Amino acid sequence: MALRTIRLEGDPVLSKVSRPVEEMTQRNRELIMDMLDTMYDAMGVGLAAPQVGILRRIVTIDVGDGPIVLINPVIVEQSGEQTGDEGCLSVPGMAGQVTRPNYVKVKAQDINMNEVEYEGEGLLARAFCHEIDHLDGHMYTELVEGELHHVSYDDEEEEE
Ligand code: ZN
Repeated sequence: MALRTIRLEGDPVLSKVSRPVEEMTQRNRELIMDMLDTMYDAMGVGLAAPQVGILRRIVTIDVGDGPIVLINPVIVEQSGEQTGDEGCLSVPGMAGQVTRPNYVKVKAQDINMNEVEYEGEGLLARAFCHEIDHLDGHMYTELVEGELHHVSYDDEEEEE
């Protein structure tokens, strides 16, 4: 188990566009395992590779139903709308209201570079959108309606 340092808002790496993953190398596998460790250690529901300083299109998510690893994810369908508090491990202790689609379908590759498809509603749809935004250098704080607010420690399990 290896924890990586989570980059915080203001770090230039978080505003850059990540590169596609062409093949599953040992380095990429180690990165994915470290991202899962880092995400669980920080009690986040999602983590994108640029948040640990690596500009590759890799995302890990766990909204409580087990780990999801997405390589080169693309949103292919979305519908509905949800507005709710969103947080980010790169903006610790804060949250803000963000409107996202309520349903999202994602195509990606898994850790063996096989094609996979996921459908998410509610929190999972929000996590897909949030993490894929990171791969394009976007932070949820760009989308917050109103002001960011502090969250108590008890709420931090919903940080992404
Ligand atoms: Zn985030």
